[in-house]
Amino acid sequence: MDNGFVYLIGAGPGDPDLLTQKAAKALKKADVVVYDYLANKKLLATCKPDAEYIYVGKQAANHAMKQEDINDLLVEKGKAGHTVARLKGGDPYVFGRGGEEAAELRKEGVAFETIPGVTSAIAGPSYAGIPVTHRGVARSFHVMTGHFKDDYAEWDWDALTRLDGTLIFLMGIGNIPRIMQALIDAGKPADTPAAVIRWATHPVQKTVVGTLSTLADEVLKAGIKPPGLIVVGPVVNFRDVLSTFENRPLFGQKVIVTRSRAQAGKLSGYLEDKGAEVVELPMIKIETEPASNWQTYIETLNDYSWLVFTSQNSVASFMNGLFETGRDVRSIGHMKLASIGSGTAKALKDFGLISDLIPERAISEALAKQMNEVVKTEDRVLIPSGNLASDVLKKELESICHVDMPVVYNTVVGEESSDHLKDVLEGGINGITFTSASTVKNFNALIEKAGLNWPATKCFSIGPKTSNALKELGLEPVESEHATIDSVVTCVENELLK
Ligand code: SAH
Repeated sequence: MDNGFVYLIGAGPGDPDLLTQKAAKALKKADVVVYDYLANKKLLATCKPDAEYIYVGKQAANHAMKQEDINDLLVEKGKAGHTVARLKGGDPYVFGRGGEEAAELRKEGVAFETIPGVTSAIAGPSYAGIPVTHRGVARSFHVMTGHFKDDYAEWDWDALTRLDGTLIFLMGIGNIPRIMQALIDAGKPADTPAAVIRWATHPVQKTVVGTLSTLADEVLKAGIKPPGLIVVGPVVNFRDVLSTFENRPLFGQKVIVTRSRAQAGKLSGYLEDKGAEVVELPMIKIETEPASNWQTYIETLNDYSWLVFTSQNSVASFMNGLFETGRDVRSIGHMKLASIGSGTAKALKDFGLISDLIPERAISEALAKQMNEVVKTEDRVLIPSGNLASDVLKKELESICHVDMPVVYNTVVGEESSDHLKDVLEGGINGITFTSASTVKNFNALIEKAGLNWPATKCFSIGPKTSNALKELGLEPVESEHATIDSVVTCVENELLK
């Protein structure tokens, strides 16, 4: 068997957008992903869904796997012919033990490559508004461990103090009093500015500022725990002027996005850009109904004169069925096409098909009204649908002509585990967004399944139907002005900033 290949990848400090393009490419190729505590789990979503995922932990007190075992694992997976992504927080060679893993791979003859990452030592202060060097203020910066137990002796504090650059300590949160005191004892002025940044570049980033003499107390008061880094030097003062990440309007707000359609991804992205911590709960999953279950309709397509699509999913699933049974768009060339809205029309256009009818408002009632005006008694209408589709359209048209509504896809509820939901809610949240009545229904089902109460938080709704679903549950939704994602974002922002 061919030998595999191991990528030692720097995942960056947390913000998934700080991943390098080279790392992103490697992640997409991997069939085994070995990842750490500090690597943002969101990055895993960009890997192959059928890849093997192995968590090897590494919290100071809670080593999920010993370094030797990690080395062996990488060698074993590489020798088995796999493409392995070894994903590490920050840069693999900055306190990441990447060198040890690489040396072991070389020794065992497994090909590897190291992909540098953005290190928290520089990006962390940067996201807190602290430049590690600044003309006239700091002409060097020094990154060191603040952890002294194992094989490292304590620093030569006199030497460190003589450096006039910025001092950056990683892994030192537990030793803050000791480090601060050592620097003061070695002669660094007690009022030298110092800061701690916890979970830098993550939506929960927290910065605590003080001086060598006050930082330890401030950190204790703020309840700061690892992971965090310490910055010492006058550059800390630039924070007042240069901080941007923590100044974004929704920074510090945690919002659940109940996800039902591809659009929800856009919603999360917008909210994250505004600084919110977004937890996406995928409420439903779309599963294509096997074409064999609705083949009779495909075989009698010649008998129909109208083909109506009420969602992008129905377009995708219908086309899939057509291709699966050895046909293509020519089998529907004789039919007129109707789409419920521009998104659905666009999905058809991607197959080279132009809709003959699109109502002004993307709702079944409007589509029914407009079709009503054009269909004749001799027409036969085919509406490939989802299992939960409303039958408004069918009922309306049936009074005029023959209508069939085969199920071509299914909406499957709540794959998300109740435990995950519990964890999310326990941490406290500031709001939940709902972009359809079915997300309300499904979220409620999930809550019941988990044996929880509805969280006492703001519920944001995209429009009247979604609001009604919430009101039926006795909740008072905050409805966005327009039924668009942009409008939901504005609504969340206005409401949470009140
Ligand atoms: N290779 C990593 C560092 C690994 S050592 C890098 O280049 O960033 C682990 C230490 O890094 C933590 O104890 C903490 O001091 C620091 N660290 C890593 N990610 C961090 C983050 N997002 N915020 C604050 N500190 C972080």
